[in-house]
Amino acid sequence: EEQSALLNERTGRSREMYAQASVHLSGGVASSYQGRDPWPIYIDSGSGDRITDVDGNEYYDFHNGFGSMVQGHAHPAIGDALGKRYPLGTHFAAATEDSIVVADELARRWGLPKWRFTNSGSESTMDAIRIARAFTGRDTVMKIFGSYHGHHDTVMVSIGVEYDKIGDRENLASLPYGAGIPQAVVDMTIAVPFNDAPAMERRIERLAAEGRLPACVIMEAAMMNLGVVLPEPGYLEAVREITAKHGIVLIFDEVKTGLTIAPGGATEKFGVTPDLVTLAKALGGGLPSGAIGGTEEVMAVVESGKVYQVGTYNGNPLSMAAARASLFEVLTPAAYERLAELNDRIVNGCQAVIDKYDLPGYAVGIGSKGCVTFATEKIVDYETFKGAQDVPLSELAWLWNMNHGIFMTPGREEEWTMSVVHSDQAVDAYIAAFDSLAAALTE
Ligand code: PLP
Repeated sequence: EEQSALLNERTGRSREMYAQASVHLSGGVASSYQGRDPWPIYIDSGSGDRITDVDGNEYYDFHNGFGSMVQGHAHPAIGDALGKRYPLGTHFAAATEDSIVVADELARRWGLPKWRFTNSGSESTMDAIRIARAFTGRDTVMKIFGSYHGHHDTVMVSIGVEYDKIGDRENLASLPYGAGIPQAVVDMTIAVPFNDAPAMERRIERLAAEGRLPACVIMEAAMMNLGVVLPEPGYLEAVREITAKHGIVLIFDEVKTGLTIAPGGATEKFGVTPDLVTLAKALGGGLPSGAIGGTEEVMAVVESGKVYQVGTYNGNPLSMAAARASLFEVLTPAAYERLAELNDRIVNGCQAVIDKYDLPGYAVGIGSKGCVTFATEKIVDYETFKGAQDVPLSELAWLWNMNHGIFMTPGREEEWTMSVVHSDQAVDAYIAAFDSLAAALTE
């Protein structure tokens, strides 16, 4: 409460803007994820690893637009690319050269030959699922329990509303995440626990017996909405084998992991290649963009015209110019080395604080991403997350960070994303803020 009151005191202009915003902008924000009680923090500007809110408070940005800004804010190379593109026209609903170059580079990085573009992560997963359904002629979709893949109906199932309803891991119920999702769609989505290949296989075999084999398994290779949960050794390989055995399209949703944890995302990092991959967030360096990559065989349903993979803004010239500059000038091999160095520094620094104060938890990281997980045991899936995560402490940590100049992802399910221009000082400020929280807690 004290930390919350402190943050409220420092954000008076946000409070005024919220009153004004609430008149015509529902809830005062453009997306439900931007909301906060009692009012949202409105941002004025960002540069490099810092952002400034409308009250003039400065923060080191570890939220980074839910991990979209791995390039850092207002990167000059992306600014130049946009500046050059704008006078040439910004939208034709026809392909430009940049889209060809970006597709070539993504094909090289992911080892998947065929690509299409979208405007967001949700569009990417929606289209990928349709492609998988068309390819297999099946309707059922399998996802991981607790995993988020965007806001379209098929994947707004088995995410968070079941906090209190887990128990039967072998027979998880499908529940919609919020209202407005047709029951018929909910019934077509089946969830299984992460890091449990035998449970997945048993569920697939049961579905096969019912004549409901899934078209696809859509999953993050490393879960990024329970903090960071890494795959246990052998898990992804087993999933690859099971899906291949049953002719199920394996989709790695790399909206968060793509371009942030390695040049070729989780696919490269873990050495397991899916049939389809979905990208968004960091691809456009802050501009709306998304992509789907796939094998020749699966993407043939797009090329043949069997599936309409369409969108007025797909491959938008500004987004493609930003993506090209980002891939070739910003997210270079040296940049990934720098991200690894920064992430090691922050993970080790946070773990040292945990050890020093003997806190219940651990620091975990991969590529540019990571978090401190406040929990009494290692989190391997949604069930352990629900059981072990210290909710009040996780929420306090967010407020504490905000009051100590660290802008972090809201809630207790997210992680930090470092940018390639993050300074050592930013990382040290994060560790210092965490140290002061730990000291206050153990006082
Ligand atoms: N997939 C994953 C793994 C995500 O984390 C998200 C968004 O957080 C999405 C898909 C949806 O992306 P968007 O918000 O761009 O629609």
